[in-house]
Amino acid sequence: MSEREAFELTPKEENFSRWFDEVLFKAEILDERYPVKGMYVWLPFGYELMENVMNIMDRLMRETGHKRVYFPAIVPESVLSREFRFIKGFEDSIYWITRLGRRDLQEKLALRPTSEAIMYEVLNRWINSYKDLPLRIYQVVSVYRYETKATRPMLRVREIVFFKEGHTFHASYEDAVKQVELGVDIYKRFYDELLVPYVVVKTTPWDTFPGARYNYDLLTIMPDGKALELGSVINFGDLFAKTYGLEYMDENGQKKPVNTTSFGISERSLAALIAIHGDDRGLRLPPKLAPIQVVIVPIPTKGYEEEIDRYCKEIFSKVRIKYRTVLDDTEDRPGYKFYKWEMKGVPVRIEIGRKELEERELTISRRDTSERIRIAEDKLEEELDVLFHDIEENMRSMAREYFLERTYNAKSIDEIKGNVETKLVSFAWCGLEECGHEIEEEVGYGILGYEEDALIGSGEKCIVCGSEAKHRAWIGRSY
Ligand SMILES: [Zn+2]
Repeated sequence: MSEREAFELTPKEENFSRWFDEVLFKAEILDERYPVKGMYVWLPFGYELMENVMNIMDRLMRETGHKRVYFPAIVPESVLSREFRFIKGFEDSIYWITRLGRRDLQEKLALRPTSEAIMYEVLNRWINSYKDLPLRIYQVVSVYRYETKATRPMLRVREIVFFKEGHTFHASYEDAVKQVELGVDIYKRFYDELLVPYVVVKTTPWDTFPGARYNYDLLTIMPDGKALELGSVINFGDLFAKTYGLEYMDENGQKKPVNTTSFGISERSLAALIAIHGDDRGLRLPPKLAPIQVVIVPIPTKGYEEEIDRYCKEIFSKVRIKYRTVLDDTEDRPGYKFYKWEMKGVPVRIEIGRKELEERELTISRRDTSERIRIAEDKLEEELDVLFHDIEENMRSMAREYFLERTYNAKSIDEIKGNVETKLVSFAWCGLEECGHEIEEEVGYGILGYEEDALIGSGEKCIVCGSEAKHRAWIGRSY
């Protein structure tokens, strides 16, 4: 493979799907060549990036009083099967263990498709009285589901590697409602830090998570105009608890079912970050998340090799104190190094050659804008702080613009039809099921959810029946 080919990508706007596969491979995020379909190998750079993402979530969970736990990955059929009444066809998507060595098992075991059953089985013993509530726990584990649709790395997989799932337990329904608000707030803060734009929607009653009272989803849009669900926050009320006999004794000695919620995200969060910010030269990573924040590239000049080398090391030792920094003093040509680190999304590149050495002024190149600036060596530290802040703000506003370009506010069903193949479309809705179903039938896609009460008092009318609109609903193609 030639130097150029090694870092060449199919243009993102031309074929997003191909671009995404190529960037994951060339930036060394994933290796897709594992012999089990829908399962992928995480490479060191990709893993580090995902860890940075998960660390943000970990911090947010701890700050809000959630404790990390671990429950085993294997669940007996008798325990899991109580969930089957909620989810149709669920059984068919499970990886079953039917043998141990040469022996057939009397009872099948499943590889964790969800964790509710596994947890509730044990929590029965943890929760006895109202004093044990609320209980807020979470874990980060792999989840296995035999996905029958075409698999896609990070987007539709058979092994979700980084499933962060929170599970909470409450005495009253009202407490569970408040917890759901907290869950949504955590996810909003999380995606704000990732610089990923989103809309928070409640799903329609006919599309609510099985066994749930209601749920909120965070949606974003991929470059191909399809919606991607980034995370879900679910209020089960006491429905799940009743199935598993999860009860507590209240202040008056009365037995009551526990109210439960759950909320989860996965590596889809990173997929969105990569897809939204990346360009035709590779990743563009927010400074906070980039495994490498600064790369120093020496520009050798004949006769000055040693001095440049020494100066690079000097700058490297200063910058690395505060930032995750690499000094690329390998044999490769500077041009090759530029391509390589651009592909990996390093936010800032420092170039040091003879001119920089003599003037004690460094050439800095920004990954987000490709802009080149010069910074005096003695101002480097403070200027880098400012620069990183600028980069983050610029990436945030670019992402906002990206989101606006791919959404359309329709005033009629015809306008929905005219835009739904390329964009995510919003419209005014009264909230009545008949109107919702009529739109879905006419348009041929499902309503992805609605911004609850967003249009109350706005004077906008439902685009089907013409009565006062309550919600802003969203419709479109989705992953
Ligand atoms: Zn209506």
